[in-house]
Amino acid sequence: MTQTYNLLILPGDGIGPEVMGQVVRVIDWFRDNRGLDFRVEQDLVGGAAYDAHGKPLSDETMARAQAADAVLLGAVGGPKYDVLDFSVKPERGLLRLRKEMDLFANLRPAQCFDALADFSSLKPEIVAGLDILIVRELTSGVYFGEPRGIHADDNNPENEGGRVGINTQRYTSGEIRRVARSAFELARRRGNKVCSMEKANVMESGILWREEVQWVHDNEYPDVELSHMYADNGAMQLVRNPRQFDVIVTDNLFGDILSDAAAMLTGSLGMLPSASLGAVMANGRPKALYEPVHGSAPDIAGQGKANPIACILSFAMALRYSFDQGQAADDLEAAVQRVLAKGVRTADLMGPEGGTPVSTAGMGDEILAELSAGA
Ligand code: NAD
Repeated sequence: MTQTYNLLILPGDGIGPEVMGQVVRVIDWFRDNRGLDFRVEQDLVGGAAYDAHGKPLSDETMARAQAADAVLLGAVGGPKYDVLDFSVKPERGLLRLRKEMDLFANLRPAQCFDALADFSSLKPEIVAGLDILIVRELTSGVYFGEPRGIHADDNNPENEGGRVGINTQRYTSGEIRRVARSAFELARRRGNKVCSMEKANVMESGILWREEVQWVHDNEYPDVELSHMYADNGAMQLVRNPRQFDVIVTDNLFGDILSDAAAMLTGSLGMLPSASLGAVMANGRPKALYEPVHGSAPDIAGQGKANPIACILSFAMALRYSFDQGQAADDLEAAVQRVLAKGVRTADLMGPEGGTPVSTAGMGDEILAELSAGA
């Protein structure tokens, strides 16, 4: 029986609709040429939703997101909305999706396309062929832990300024185990190696993290190679020899920093996809939100200059992680690789040697042509 793939597309603001337009063409290509039965709905998020409904995500859209097999999001935000109250800012729409879908595992691949190795801040020979995946815990840890706040430090006369700021790093064993399982599952589909990063040398929550990841490994994934590393050493190793890693699993705070550092190993913001996964639903697919790492880029919005590759590669992640279409994902990534190898570039990928950049749609044309050539 043919499987149906229910996708909710939320293009959002700024360049979001422009880059998502190219993803829709790619989806149509897979429907027409590979018979993949995508059922696509579109809706509003961020500033676009605020303009229509007075809030950045309506309850109806939230319900559609909960019912979808996967959500694809472009980007939210823009200067027009900077004056809004915090509670209705475009970003709140995205945060609501992540929270209510309980997307606890944030996947941030750092993959270096050979043709762009010169864009990295590291030497090409260190990053060429790089393909790592950072799994960041996204719904707990120090960004959410209680108590938190800024208080008067009344009983401490030696405290110049008289205030204290507090955040709490807190993890339950269950929160650690579920994200560890995600990392081990992902590793099995890749290089079968997980490196877990924490600060067990100075933090009790780090000791618990290490013990629980080890427990999940020993009891459920003994076939996957597991190592542990202090997160500060991890940061050094990422810039010294990033190819030693396959999957890295780490907490919310360290993951925030390490994933941004790893992303820059690969060059432009216009190239970086991401996924956020939650619990497995009754149909066997995880709750899932796919989105490029970049924002709405108001400085280039509406000009046809945006690079659609980050959004297209986010869709490739959806093919792989939500729909188990690994071959289709490989083919799409290979098409992107070939287009870049031919020297086709959007403006953000132009090197000092110059040349004529293609438009957003021009990049879409090239990727579709390569898909067809490889089909
Ligand atoms: P940004 O990612 O939008 O842009 C940073 C720089 O990168 C800009 O110069 C932009 O032109 C360039 N850039 C980004 N994506 C590109 C692409 N696909 N192709 C070519 N160039 C690209 O970050 P910012 O300028 O800090 O934020 C702009 C708005 O986006 C703000 O309102 C911010 O709150 C929002 N934002 C949203 C998200 C999200 O939706 N997930 C993430 C970050 C920022």
